[in-house]
Amino acid sequence: MNFIVLDMEWNQPWPGSPSSKKTLPTPIRGEIIQLGAVRVADGQEAAEEFQVMVRPKFYRRLNKRVSKLTGIKEAQLKEAGIPFPEAMERFRAWCGEDPIFLTWGFDDIMILRENLRLFRLPEDWTEKWFNVQMIFNAQTDGSTAQKALKTAMEMFGIESTRPAHDALGDAYHTAQICARLDLQRGMAEYGKALKSHEDGFHGAELPGCIARKVYYGYAGKEAALAAMAGAENRCPVCQRQMLGSRWFAQPGHRYMDLATCPEHGKFLIRVRLSLQPDATIRVSRLTYEAGSQAAEAYAHRAEKAQPESVKMRSRRRSRRRTEKTVE
Ligand SMILES: [Zn+2]
Repeated sequence: MNFIVLDMEWNQPWPGSPSSKKTLPTPIRGEIIQLGAVRVADGQEAAEEFQVMVRPKFYRRLNKRVSKLTGIKEAQLKEAGIPFPEAMERFRAWCGEDPIFLTWGFDDIMILRENLRLFRLPEDWTEKWFNVQMIFNAQTDGSTAQKALKTAMEMFGIESTRPAHDALGDAYHTAQICARLDLQRGMAEYGKALKSHEDGFHGAELPGCIARKVYYGYAGKEAALAAMAGAENRCPVCQRQMLGSRWFAQPGHRYMDLATCPEHGKFLIRVRLSLQPDATIRVSRLTYEAGSQAAEAYAHRAEKAQPESVKMRSRRRSRRRTEKTVE
């Protein structure tokens, strides 16, 4: 089996910048600027390595958050980066026949495909891939939560020997995790693992949840919550913008708010924020019926609320990085 552990870093336009207003032929969540890969054999330590820097074509200005997170400088990309089509040609040649990609999380393959599509390059060679997180969970604690790479490394007692948020560094550490997993079995049982993950997402929600949607690309917590209380605060029945009341912070970067549609009444909104590898915020949003238990919990919380609002908390600017945590 030709297993290739893949990790990438990607750039995004700064919100509000001219680049952010560009309409691309096909949408991308980020433009790939660095790709790292490690070939692994089942049950063996990492072997061959591959890495390439890509000079961005569409979002040429390097987002300062991305730069800070990855340590990559714009000048470096200009100097050492090669055009994406050339990088892909090299990478495919290195991958060889029938690669099976292993990634930490669901995002990398999706972003890779978006970039290939944008450059009108074939995508079919990325068809076989597995999210190692799912295999890791199935073969360790059986949880359905997606863990940060760092957490998984700690669970396996793997020392960090390479830089984090560096494509090859992350790929290398992921490969070390792969070496401690039964990949063949993981692949055979992947469907089951994926199913329990999906069920986990829904099953873990309280009854009365009527809608679920994921949003990407917010610059920070404030922007994400503002969008969730504003433009994206849509009535699940008529899609009109609803009025929010007040966000209550809950553990795990979660917030809840009671929203009102003038026609369809109240709905409880629960959101969970997670920091993406490119330093933007992803929001998972759940909408509950007003009569649900979850909504009653909100009412109870609102009743005895202390004056500790989200705004006050956010002033502390304790932006803790949750590395590669998707959910
Ligand atoms: Zn409505």
